[in-house]
Amino acid sequence: MNEPIKKIAVLTSGGDAPGMNAAIRAVVRACTYYRIECVGVYRGYQGLIEGDIEPLTARDVSNIINKGGTILKSARSMEFKTKEGRAKAYENLKKHGVGALVLIGGDGTFTGGLKFIEEFNFPLVGIPGTIDNDIYGTDNTIGYDTALNTVVEVIDKIRDTASSHNRLFFIEVMGRDAGFIALNTGIGAGAEEILIPEKNLGLDRLVESLKTSKETGKTSSIVVVSEGDKIGKNVFELADYINEHFPHYDIRVSVLGHMQRGGSPSCYDRVLASRLGVAAVEALLDRSTGVMIGITNNEVSMVGLDKAIKMNHDINKELLKVAEITSV
Ligand code: ATP
Repeated sequence: MNEPIKKIAVLTSGGDAPGMNAAIRAVVRACTYYRIECVGVYRGYQGLIEGDIEPLTARDVSNIINKGGTILKSARSMEFKTKEGRAKAYENLKKHGVGALVLIGGDGTFTGGLKFIEEFNFPLVGIPGTIDNDIYGTDNTIGYDTALNTVVEVIDKIRDTASSHNRLFFIEVMGRDAGFIALNTGIGAGAEEILIPEKNLGLDRLVESLKTSKETGKTSSIVVVSEGDKIGKNVFELADYINEHFPHYDIRVSVLGHMQRGGSPSCYDRVLASRLGVAAVEALLDRSTGVMIGITNNEVSMVGLDKAIKMNHDINKELLKVAEITSV
């Protein structure tokens, strides 16, 4: 494909994340700036297969930078996992004269993108949009900062109740494979213990820690639990187990769930998404393909989609230490 790119398509896929709209807006406006056309694909890969594709102009993306979710909608598409489905998607892109694609999503979205390049050599780049921050090649993913702020605000509120009633609260936050949300919100909201998938603290350690808290005069406690923590019990089983050891504690469980995904994006996420959206269009115009655009040490960076998917974004050991020290 050596012809100049005249039209770029953008789609959002996988779980929605606050800031995706800011990224869509930046992609559309960068296209206008560089005098190329832009189209939006609705409902992710499924919309690509069904030809749900509409032109997007700079004015079509007015007043969306502050909105959560994604105006393009998102969907999980089983059909895109098949060769036939991907062939239909390719035909639709050709029919609409699209020369390159911007994918906003997570691991699964990038895996689909890589297959698409393999089969059709179609130019595409990825932008990391997921609240879990579990993608290699960027310091932050779009939506993560907003989710942290949402969770901290809720834990602050729960703390009011915990301290008024001398209660022990187990608060489950999102992060099936990554404990970034739990670790950072746990520190930010002053939790006594933080349980994350990357570190097996074991039940004994939790019991010991709660014992010490009690002995040193803590009357209420907050334990933040990542949904994929290594202890392997769900948060309710965990609460039951602890109840057996601390019958005098009034234990409550709070599962924060989908509210963590919603809401107006933070300023940080809006700026991040705007930078990534502009850089994605520029990368395509420079003939980059098969890469994810990220921000590393406050600079725009690029990493192969294969690496972004396969490699781990390590948990910061210094943060683990800070959590331990500040919860004594
Ligand atoms: P999140 O991290 O929020 O879950 P995600 O991008 O990882 O986002 P997925 O549902 O895993 O979300 O993937 C999004 C879409 O990508 C899937 O619905 C599917 O259409 C496509 N996809 C995922 N895995 C593959 C694959 N192995 N081959 C082709 N397409 C895939």
